[in-house]
Amino acid sequence: MTDRLIESDKRHCWHPFTQMRDWCAPDHTPLVLVEGEGALLRDSEGCSYIDGNSSIWTNLHGHRHPKINAAIREQLDRVAHTSFLGFTNPQAIRLAEELVALWPQDVQNPLTRVFFSDDGSTAIECAVKMAVQCWQHRGQPERNTFLAFTNAYHGDTMGASSLGGINAFHGRFSAFHFPSVHVASMAELTARTTPGAADGIDPSQLAAVVIEPLMQGAAGMRLWPAGMLAELRAWCDRHGVFLIADEVMTGFGRTGRMFACEHEGVVPDFVACAKGLSGGYLPLAATFTTEAVYEAFLGGYEELKSFFYGHSFTGNQLGCAAALASLAIFREERVLETLAPKIEAMTHALASLKGHPHVGDIRQCGFMAGIDVVQADGAAYDWKLQTGSRVCLAAREHGLLTRPVRDTLVLMPPYCISEAQLAHSVEAIRRGIDAVCG
Ligand SMILES: *Cc1c(COP(=O)(O)O)cnc(C)c1O
Repeated sequence: MTDRLIESDKRHCWHPFTQMRDWCAPDHTPLVLVEGEGALLRDSEGCSYIDGNSSIWTNLHGHRHPKINAAIREQLDRVAHTSFLGFTNPQAIRLAEELVALWPQDVQNPLTRVFFSDDGSTAIECAVKMAVQCWQHRGQPERNTFLAFTNAYHGDTMGASSLGGINAFHGRFSAFHFPSVHVASMAELTARTTPGAADGIDPSQLAAVVIEPLMQGAAGMRLWPAGMLAELRAWCDRHGVFLIADEVMTGFGRTGRMFACEHEGVVPDFVACAKGLSGGYLPLAATFTTEAVYEAFLGGYEELKSFFYGHSFTGNQLGCAAALASLAIFREERVLETLAPKIEAMTHALASLKGHPHVGDIRQCGFMAGIDVVQADGAAYDWKLQTGSRVCLAAREHGLLTRPVRDTLVLMPPYCISEAQLAHSVEAIRRGIDAVCG
């Protein structure tokens, strides 16, 4: 049965971010995942594994959570999907109301509006198009450039990848990208926007600055310096530039607070959310923005100020029902409270890797961590050796599923993981490193 499935996969499927020649090689036997429960996944052979990266950073409360399952079933018995174009529906309305209430409303420019789409990339596309169009309506069409950070990752659709700063992913498409400017740090941003600076950036041409707050994921779980996000907010305010926070990875508790922006008291002009929004059960994304941005789109129909943008599954009822159930779990199971000691347990477990000759830097932000695998002299491995991938494959033998970012191992389990499973995960990583790096 499994052999037949794998054979068919190799014949017909094309996997993301994958060299398919390696995937289809006779000695590569992909895992066929068939079941999940809590923090565990089970393959077609009946083996169980800890879902060490929450199924590519999406899952929050574990697999097959009874409340999310029930909410989806209940909704399915009414209707799965109806158009949000020309119609509305109770699930999307309730969800928008609850999402807005997660952000402070007693600030100068509160986030009051939610635009639904399907994925992190589309949530970013939506923010980008809203920002551009908003400046046009406000009579400042020259504000059409975006500033992003070196090594940024905001998704793979053409607009989102225009903001990307990872050359291996985005470089070959540069001719098709809209122009964006990249800086490595707040210091570089400040230096290059000082009048007369070499390689200067003119803030009056910028539509928005986009950032992954607190931690850049695909860059290799890289941490921003504390206070940087608040500094960036102040810089954007000084120059009248929009701030877009890409909370696709960090949103919904991953950092220990509901949103990463809360750690520095920042309210952006746009926030993109996806991955964990539906608890990681269904594709659903949200772009938040302010009433001020929204109002710039109001006018007579003939003025053509409408936001002519949308996706077939915008406001999908099943997805919204799952998201509402996920938010209910946050409240009813006091998820953020119970997460705090688990974050400490993760720190404690990771400390056992310190001093390992093949472990370099370890970076943690809330309930996510990156562990650099290095050579014994501390130098990086040649990326072509795919050391990180081989370590993850070896860790699988010890019951852990995860995926590296190059040679940075990612540990980002569902919040429901037990402290014993957490310790087990780190032990599997240690054994994986020992097996590969010897
Ligand atoms: C995953 C991710 C995206 C892209 O989301 P998709 O749902 O894969 O399109 C964008 N930004 C960040 C920070 C992400 O982690």
